[in-house]
Amino acid sequence: MKLTTTVTKRDSAAEIEDFIATHSAYVDEVQVSGFTHFVHVSDHFGKEKIWDEFGLDRPDLKGKVKCFLPNFEMLVKPNGDICACCGAYTEGLVYGNVYQESLMDIWRGGRAEQLRTKICGGDLEELENCRVCPVRYKYDNIDNAVHNTRK
Ligand code: SF4
Repeated sequence: MKLTTTVTKRDSAAEIEDFIATHSAYVDEVQVSGFTHFVHVSDHFGKEKIWDEFGLDRPDLKGKVKCFLPNFEMLVKPNGDICACCGAYTEGLVYGNVYQESLMDIWRGGRAEQLRTKICGGDLEELENCRVCPVRYKYDNIDNAVHNTRK
């Protein structure tokens, strides 16, 4: 079981450590991820001033980033769609449907491999979903959404 939370610059390193220490006893993993939901809202839905409205700084982009999450994670949606990660909110990260193929065939299939190659290779700009993912952004108080996972 994994517990995930998001933080902004308003959360201190001590508060983050405290959150991890408090919750680690109850779950297998605690993941601390930079808050980027407003990147979706501002870039995807065209609401550019949303950061100011809530007094938050928009995080800066890193250089080219690779993401390895689709190598060990998939998301099954209620309609059976299988996606590359838990952050998939577009059709672009769907690589099968469990009502049409077995889970193992989907996991090992060509569409999944194509997506993994692209994402692990760092072609995140090309995928609408990955373009606004936390792993592409810098934060002062945490390192990186994917690599910040603790067991
Ligand atoms: S870059 Fe983000 S959205 Fe894309 S696969 Fe990785 S975690 Fe998911």
